[in-house]
Amino acid sequence: MNFNIDQIRKDFPILSQQVYNRPLVYFDNGATTQKPQCVINCINDYHTQHNSSIHRGVHYLSEKATEDYENARKTVQHFINAASSNEIIFTPGTTSSINGLAFSFGERYIREGDEIIVTEMEHHANIVPWQMLCERKKSRLRVIPFSDEGILKLEELDRMINEKTRLICVIHVSNALGTINPVNEIIQKAHQHNIPVLVDGAQSVQHTSVDVQQMDCDFFAFSGHKIYAPTGIGILYGKEKWLDELPPFQGGGDMVDVVTFEKTTYNSLPFKFEAGTPNYIGAIGLASALDYVTSLGVENIAQHELTLLHQGTEKLLNLGYVKLFGTAPHKSSILSFIVNGVHPYDTGMVLDKMGIAVRTGTHCAQPVMQHYGIEGTVRASVALYNNALEIDALVEGVKKVKTMFG
Ligand code: PLP
Repeated sequence: MNFNIDQIRKDFPILSQQVYNRPLVYFDNGATTQKPQCVINCINDYHTQHNSSIHRGVHYLSEKATEDYENARKTVQHFINAASSNEIIFTPGTTSSINGLAFSFGERYIREGDEIIVTEMEHHANIVPWQMLCERKKSRLRVIPFSDEGILKLEELDRMINEKTRLICVIHVSNALGTINPVNEIIQKAHQHNIPVLVDGAQSVQHTSVDVQQMDCDFFAFSGHKIYAPTGIGILYGKEKWLDELPPFQGGGDMVDVVTFEKTTYNSLPFKFEAGTPNYIGAIGLASALDYVTSLGVENIAQHELTLLHQGTEKLLNLGYVKLFGTAPHKSSILSFIVNGVHPYDTGMVLDKMGIAVRTGTHCAQPVMQHYGIEGTVRASVALYNNALEIDALVEGVKKVKTMFG
């Protein structure tokens, strides 16, 4: 496999620093990822040499920025294999993508008594916007439960789908459990009843290759900052037939065709959904990050991360006092655990003093914690630049936690 981890780590300047006189071990990748030098350079160069607002100027810089922004859209299109760049909407991130869709889809298609299905393992970003919509429209949110291993009970979905179901929203990879959900199967079932499906890909695009045409999802959302790109940029993918039908979720500059005080007509796709000056430098930075990921190979990344996940799982379980949450056979690179008898926060604090960054708490997935009747977990999430030594450091850290609190 052409995946030289020592070389790759050098691409990420932040990783070479010390924290509390220890080498930084960064395992908070589910929250946000670090940026490779090429992405940092790209953003820096843009501010230094090319910055200009897009779509509006006739001058050189504006035309160059417009071209780069639209090329970035094509890079995203090819990265997720969308049929057209019209289907790629730039947003500030997954949360914005889902909120925008909830407003737009809700305005057009949701009526009193309608039902929207989500799963018990959703991130709050894929619960609350739908709940708010349901409150506005007097519609109903239904929830597919999961088993204690962290596997969705799809037989419940079969029972839940009915003539009132308007949309199914499902997390591709659980940020709290690591489960890779069988989205293809869910989409097939939904489409048998002509129900569209939104896939929350915030934790999947960076770990597994995503082909939206093969998946056949109707909508797909992800965030740039979780895939080595800057913050404040994300994607809402939608099939063109849907995006054509849906009303815009924000009004303002650029998304219009003709504005009069009597009536406004809207711009064509994808601009209809991009009101105001977009984060064009973020979009160009995202394209740079996707090019970087592509150059390493998404499959190579997946294989590397899976090896680390298996090592971590085995070593933590071998300690005999660690409980793992999320033990589905089909998993991505998330180790969500509790050291028996120790509050996750205490574990996180001790690990931090050893230079190890993990996340503690509910991971914006409180229903997952409610499922297990726990306050939270410690989450170590693996990225392409982590290595086996860091897994060992995590395990050593957990041993220290046990000695201190056990
Ligand atoms: N969905 C999932 C599965 C996530 O893990 C996250 C972030 O952790 C989000 C949505 C929200 O992403 P963002 O905060 O970038 O909008």
